Amino acid sequence: STLSVGFDHLALDEIKKRGIRVGYTPDVLTDATAELSVALLLSVCRRLPEAAEQVKSGGWTTWKPLWMCGYGLSDSTVGIIGLGRIGQAVARRLKPFGVRKFLYTGSGPKPESAAEFGAEFVPLDRLAEESDFVVVTCALTPATQGMCNKDFFSRMKKTSVFVNTSRGAVVNQEDLYDALVSGQIAAAGLDVTTPEPLPTDHPLLSLKNCVILPHIGSATYATRSTMAVLAANNLLAGLRGEPMPHELKL
Ligand code: NDP
Repeated sequence: STLSVGFDHLALDEIKKRGIRVGYTPDVLTDATAELSVALLLSVCRRLPEAAEQVKSGGWTTWKPLWMCGYGLSDSTVGIIGLGRIGQAVARRLKPFGVRKFLYTGSGPKPESAAEFGAEFVPLDRLAEESDFVVVTCALTPATQGMCNKDFFSRMKKTSVFVNTSRGAVVNQEDLYDALVSGQIAAAGLDVTTPEPLPTDHPLLSLKNCVILPHIGSATYATRSTMAVLAANNLLAGLRGEPMPHELKL
C-alpha cells in the first residue's frame, strides 16, 4: 500500500513476478497537487520568493518601472506534459487567468479530456517551442525519464517558464541548470528533484530564477488524512483478499 499516486518507486517487475497486489491513492490528491502546481507557477513567473527576499534585505528602494517584473498568464500559451488527472486539474485552474491556448502532449490525443480547455495535442518539440509556460504533470516511466533535456530546453523561448510537479527524473537537471544560467529559459519551479532531498549545496539552489520546493504537492492536512485512510483501507482489503478501493492494475 503506497501513500501516493506515483508508483515509479516500486520494483514493478518483481511485484508482477511475485503476484503482489498493490494499493495506491489516485484522485484524492489531484486537487491539492494541482493547486500547488499553480501556486509554484505563479511564484516563479511573478518572482515571489525573490521579491519577498528583497523586502527583507533592503533591496526595496525607490519605485522603478521594470524592477521585479515577471511574466503573466494573460493571453499566454500553456503547454501541459501529461494531461492526466493532475494535468487537467491544473488546466482547469489556469484557464480563468486568461490563458489563450492550451497545448498538451502524451502517449496519444485525448479529445474528451482536452475539449474542456480546447487543448491541442502536439509533439513534444512543438510544445516546447510554442509554450510560454510548460507544466510537467506526467508519470515517470522509461519513456518520460530525462524527457526535459538539453534539446527540449533549447527549443523553449527565452521568456518561457518551466514547472515540474511530476517526478524529478523527468528532467535532466544539468541541462535545466545550463538553460537557466545561460538565459535559454526565463525561470523554473520544481516541486520534485533528483535526488530528494536535494543537497543544500546543489547548483540549482544558487539561482535566483529557480524556485525549489520539498515535494509538497499533496501536502494539505485534509488530503494527507484522506490519503492515509485510503492507503489503510487498501491494505486491509488486500489482507482480507477483497477488492481494494484503489488497486493498481499492473
Ligand atoms: P495520471 O495517470 O492521471 O496522468 C499521468 C499522465 O502522464 C497521463 O496523462 C499520461 O498521458 C502521461 N504520460 C505518460 N507517458 C507520457 C509520455 N511519454 N509523454 C507525456 N505524457 C505521458 O496520473 P496523475 O495525474 O494522478 O499523476 C501524475 C503524476 O504526478 C504521478 O505519476 C506522480 O508522479 C506525480 N505526482 C506528484 C505529486 C507531488 O507531490 N509533486 C503528487 C501527486 C502526483 P497518456 O494518458 O497520454 O499516456
